[in-house]
Amino acid sequence: MNTETISKKDDHNLNGFTIEDIGDDHLFTNLETPMKANAFDMSNDEKKQRISILFSEIMDVLGLDLTDDSLKGTPNRVAKMYVEEIFSGLDPQNKPKIALFDNKYQYNQMLVEKNITFYSNCEHHFVPIIGKAHIAYKSSGKVIGLSKLNRIVQYYAKRPQVQERLTNQIANELKTVLDTEDVAVIIDAKHLCVSSRGVKDDTSATVTSFYGGEFNSSAKIAELQNYLNN
Ligand SMILES: [Zn+2]
Repeated sequence: MNTETISKKDDHNLNGFTIEDIGDDHLFTNLETPMKANAFDMSNDEKKQRISILFSEIMDVLGLDLTDDSLKGTPNRVAKMYVEEIFSGLDPQNKPKIALFDNKYQYNQMLVEKNITFYSNCEHHFVPIIGKAHIAYKSSGKVIGLSKLNRIVQYYAKRPQVQERLTNQIANELKTVLDTEDVAVIIDAKHLCVSSRGVKDDTSATVTSFYGGEFNSSAKIAELQNYLNN
């Protein structure tokens, strides 16, 4: 991956970058989602209550009239959406439970699940990242239900994210559950913080990839690209 990675310990010296550069250039500090140690001390209901209060304050500061019938319910709706939907992947309790099956058919070629649509949010701007994930693996003797590949993608997408971390988190999870290094993840996504604001580039897309084990060879990558192009 050609991403400039900054060590978290470099807080005071961000390799010459400022916090602003990091946000606008979508650099990131860590392959793990940076979480506080006490992230789950509060219940989901408490979180929703707090977010609702804080979000109504943002709306108020912006000058919006919160007594208007159309705006009244927004803080509650946003709070519920953050906790239960678009950021639900922060909570390990929501991690999909994966059952594996024996590879009865002895199918030992690569399996490719392509065009898994996901919606995530950029952790630098909190606006959507919309994309497609393509996953491939070679069975080490066990196979996974196809819908579970999709669920793993959705779980890690439902966090404030950067695309490189999303790619790696999905790959690591697949390596763990499938007990193999032979996994590949390719993500092709559009970042609304790039298209709708900032440089306002509406046509660019970002592609990131992870090729592990046997996939890390030009022959396998070419074979995989061939599946993805057809
Ligand atoms: Zn962004």
